[in-house]
Amino acid sequence: MELKNKRVLVVGLGKSGVSAALFLRKQGARVTVSDARPSEALAKEIPALLDAGVMVETGGHGVLTFRRQDLVVLSPGVPLHTPEVQQVQRFGVPIIGELELASQVLKGEVVAITGSNGKTTTTSLLGHIFQRAGRQTLVGGNIGLPVVDLVSGSTADTWSILEVSSFQLETIQTFRPHIALVLNITPDHLDRHGDFEHYAAAKARITENQAAADFLVLNAEDKPTQMVAAKTAAQIFWFSNVRRVKQGAFTHADGVYFIATEGGTPEPIMPVAGIQLRGAHNIENVLAAVAAARLAGIPADGIRDGVQTFHAVDHRLQFVAKVRGVDYFNDSKATNVDATMKALEAFPGDVRLILGGKDKGSDYTTLLPLLRTRAKALYTIGSAAQKIEDQLVESLPYPITHAETLANAVALCALEAVPGDTVLLAPACASFDQFSSYEHRGQAFAALVQELTLLNPNQ
Ligand code: ADP
Repeated sequence: MELKNKRVLVVGLGKSGVSAALFLRKQGARVTVSDARPSEALAKEIPALLDAGVMVETGGHGVLTFRRQDLVVLSPGVPLHTPEVQQVQRFGVPIIGELELASQVLKGEVVAITGSNGKTTTTSLLGHIFQRAGRQTLVGGNIGLPVVDLVSGSTADTWSILEVSSFQLETIQTFRPHIALVLNITPDHLDRHGDFEHYAAAKARITENQAAADFLVLNAEDKPTQMVAAKTAAQIFWFSNVRRVKQGAFTHADGVYFIATEGGTPEPIMPVAGIQLRGAHNIENVLAAVAAARLAGIPADGIRDGVQTFHAVDHRLQFVAKVRGVDYFNDSKATNVDATMKALEAFPGDVRLILGGKDKGSDYTTLLPLLRTRAKALYTIGSAAQKIEDQLVESLPYPITHAETLANAVALCALEAVPGDTVLLAPACASFDQFSSYEHRGQAFAALVQELTLLNPNQ
């Protein structure tokens, strides 16, 4: 796409919006950015944009701003049904996202990972495997570094490992990963996508431009993910932690295997015991990564080495410390019910679970079977606490403790836990009622646990 002297509007000044605006200026476009937040909230971002010659509009989107643009680059945080966006769409102005913008000029091969849960873990793991296998590797997308920031460092030999969200996929046109992974599709972000069908359809777009030379890696145990198979022209590879698949990665007895062609002999990749991550869900992430890495031509011993040297990403079922015989795990990234279920499943029992935060319209009763079998105590925090208690209180064999804050919850856990227990922060909620992000919440938890270790030295 020729960008020189084109009038481009970037809507939303998140990390990717800022990067997109600066990238577009470098290509010689005439760039305006517009953000609904007031200028004070954007004090960090604005100077660099003005210095680069970008026009900046804050505090709302003026109707005129959207007029006479050649292209609109929409941030993943801004819904497509925003009235101003709908209006330019009617004018026939192309609307794309930063992922689409970047992928048109990114050199080399792309591996793209989407799913409701496990994207960051699988993306980091794949990045690690590719790097250790000696591939020229870049990692970015939803995981942190915007894809436009990878462009200048990419060459024909680069493998870009990209985490892509459903919001990013809503604004693609030509994005075509050579290897695409859909890990799972479970209800999340329904506040934005409207209903499950729309959400699943957005995720399925990861494969819409793939062709017969490309690969699509799908979860054989997840119904909504299986449906994506009907929408692809790529070669499908499956992964499963419970059965042998026709083609793809699976576990059998104590080993991880890969089948390269339908009806082919399974190739041993590594022992399951070599996986350093906790929980069956992480075995699924590893299987998805094994399939992708193998399809990229990385040999089994390279994959084994990568998986065996990879440890949990921060705030994802991460071991924090053992204090007086009690293990503390930080899964602050468990911001939906499904992730909390996976976290509970990763422990045989005796879990003291800290639950709550900002509710996302979730049904917490789906946690009940696991709360009965894996947990022995429940501590609620944040604005969702009352809803959680109302939904669960009558069905649990133990009382619920209304801890209100994370600090109270950790203090109560420390007081009540006995050696052998596990204290787990897996809140099933967003963090924004009491924290600025899930990282902030996870750091706060880790700091509280560190205080406990100081109070209990030599543990
Ligand atoms: P994402 O980037 O998709 O949010 P993460 O790797 O950051 O994924 O993990 C998010 C949460 O989901 C964490 O609580 C993690 O323990 C849990 N999780 C990771 N992988 C899976 C999976 N395959 N299925 C379900 N939950 C998972």
